[in-house]
Amino acid sequence: MGKYPVYQSPDLDQVEARMRPSPDFRHGYLGRDQRRLIQILTAGEARVRALGLSHEAIADRLDQLTLGAQSGYGETVLLEQKYIVTATVARGKIPCPWDHPGLYRKTHIDLRRTDSDDRLVWTDLSIHLIREHGFYQGEGSPYRLDPEAIHRVLFR
Ligand SMILES: [Zn+2]
Repeated sequence: MGKYPVYQSPDLDQVEARMRPSPDFRHGYLGRDQRRLIQILTAGEARVRALGLSHEAIADRLDQLTLGAQSGYGETVLLEQKYIVTATVARGKIPCPWDHPGLYRKTHIDLRRTDSDDRLVWTDLSIHLIREHGFYQGEGSPYRLDPEAIHRVLFR
């Protein structure tokens, strides 16, 4: 814990509770991250700004690459001469942990760069969580999108 008390609204407490790992949801959205949700959100916001990016710009870029990946209909495709991407769709849909109406398809995008070992994976819900909530998931979550990695892989 830091030097100052952390204030988190009761609403955000509920969202955080839904995100923590459980027997039905092994890694949750927070992985092994012990920070409160408000701390994770604040830190993500600061890092994205420091990189000269915005949640919207990142979400737009992920949407663009998702569309490109889906043009392969399950086959691996080369995009922009530097990304090897595959889109797979799992059965079923999942809700946003903020309890928004609507469900998200389980589209899984796997992206690698041809000129490095960098790899990013995300889903439709990942993009929603970034665009609407500025949430990049906790340390240790398999779907965490580290802002530095996003910058290095998708904006250079
Ligand atoms: Zn939401």
